[in-house]
Amino acid sequence: MTNPKQQMAGQVALYPSAQAYEAGVVPIRFSGWPRPAPQAPYAALDADIEADVVVVGAGLAGTSLCLHLAERGVQAVLLEADQPGSGASGRNAGHVQPYLGSLDALRDLPNQGHAFIDYFVANRDLVFDLSTRLGLDADVARCGLVEAANREHGALAHKARVWQGLGYAVEVVGKEQLQQLLGTAAYGYGLHWREGGRLNPYLFTQGLAARAAALGARVYGNSCVLACAAEGGQWRLRTATGSVRAARVVLCTNGHAGNPFFPELARTQFPLLACGLATRPLPAAALALINPARVALMQYPAGLYPLVIDGRGRLITATIPGHGQAQDAQRYFDYFLRYLRRTFPALAGVPIELESYWTGMTANSSSVYDAAYPQFYQVDKGVLALLNLGSWGNLMGPLLGRHLAEVLVTGRLDRLLLPLREPRAVRCSGLFETKIRRVLIPAARLADRLGLV
Ligand SMILES: Cc1cc2nc3c(=O)[nH]c(=O)nc-3n(C[C@H](O)[C@H](O)[C@H](O)COP(=O)(O)OP(=O)(O)OC[C@H]3O[C@@H](n4cnc5c(N)ncnc54)[C@H](O)[C@@H]3O)c2cc1C
Repeated sequence: MTNPKQQMAGQVALYPSAQAYEAGVVPIRFSGWPRPAPQAPYAALDADIEADVVVVGAGLAGTSLCLHLAERGVQAVLLEADQPGSGASGRNAGHVQPYLGSLDALRDLPNQGHAFIDYFVANRDLVFDLSTRLGLDADVARCGLVEAANREHGALAHKARVWQGLGYAVEVVGKEQLQQLLGTAAYGYGLHWREGGRLNPYLFTQGLAARAAALGARVYGNSCVLACAAEGGQWRLRTATGSVRAARVVLCTNGHAGNPFFPELARTQFPLLACGLATRPLPAAALALINPARVALMQYPAGLYPLVIDGRGRLITATIPGHGQAQDAQRYFDYFLRYLRRTFPALAGVPIELESYWTGMTANSSSVYDAAYPQFYQVDKGVLALLNLGSWGNLMGPLLGRHLAEVLVTGRLDRLLLPLREPRAVRCSGLFETKIRRVLIPAARLADRLGLV
């Protein structure tokens, strides 16, 4: 088996520190998603320029916003501290989940959030549509998604009924169908969402940035915004080597932690570290044994080993690392291997090697996983933020980026489908991470090993 420290042959000296893993900021080349030959980087901003809208942060949210503004003729500038896709968007597990978490969490919105739900439902194929329309080379596949459980769960049956009622092609499936889809008899009950899928989130984000640039948006990499100050009724954003002046600023910085401007945004979320790993490509004979339908797989109730098989025949998963163990690639690879060998016994003897291991930070608006919806913030006059996309950014980022662009061109912020809130500090933000990393995940791993779920 490959020593993960050798995964970047010739770069061992540059192996990130334990602190970098713990902060979710290992260099993006350690993520399994960028191609080995790096794309030409976007140059840093090196002048004082003007724009209609400045977008800060080139993840799924910021690139989608910028693209959809550019498509509507708005002069947009996108400033990224690193390069597009270097944040959570280039580090995730690649699942495109076509449904929402708890709809109860939307009950307090006008009309119980139905305007938002309707928009989400109508645009649930957005990732696949964008990929086709823009000709993105991002390994995007509408391959379906399975939530697999050991036994029957009323909550899954209820969920299927709710989303079938909204027009979804989702079915409750039993052991036999699961065996056909997944190639294992390990699961007895589940949901098959035909409208879900997978993507390479790094290449997808890069693709959105490139299409925005092709339409005239000015995209800058290595351009960390250091300050954002009011100036003559507009805003001036400064980087180390230049500045942009604009009437409208939108912050798409995910958690916003570490940013000195508008520090109140840094306390609006519950951060949660996650780690991901990719195996080396498996031979066709091995792939025929695992997940022959190539669906994106999630386990229920605890999604300990989400799985996608990408276009290169690699297995990709993500989990939540224990405290102080985020750098321990071998530990999380071993967990995954044990799961694979237990779930797909025919794999015995097939060598499976680790190719990449990385970490990234999610920003969640609620300490209840399912109730964590993205947030729009009115930070100041002319300054908005779209933050806290939680664990659902692959569809939510492109979707809300597009929605925000539509609203900005009309100037009707009252038409936002999720509330526009003032930044408000959440209480005990660290407790969420402690609860998940120290208690819930270890307990779920134990229950899973003992076959108690
Ligand atoms: C391991 C892992 C697995 C996940 N799995 C999934 C999954 O399977 N499916 C799914 O839908 N979601 C998943 N997610 C969540 C998803 O990745 C996020 O919700 C999404 O990427 C957030 O997008 P974003 O644009 O808000 O943030 P980001 O992608 O983090 O982008 C924010 C950007 O802002 C930049 N920035 C910050 N400050 C500044 C500044 N001062 N100046 C300039 N730029 C700045 C950062 O460099 C960064 O590039 C996962 C996340 C992780 C970490």
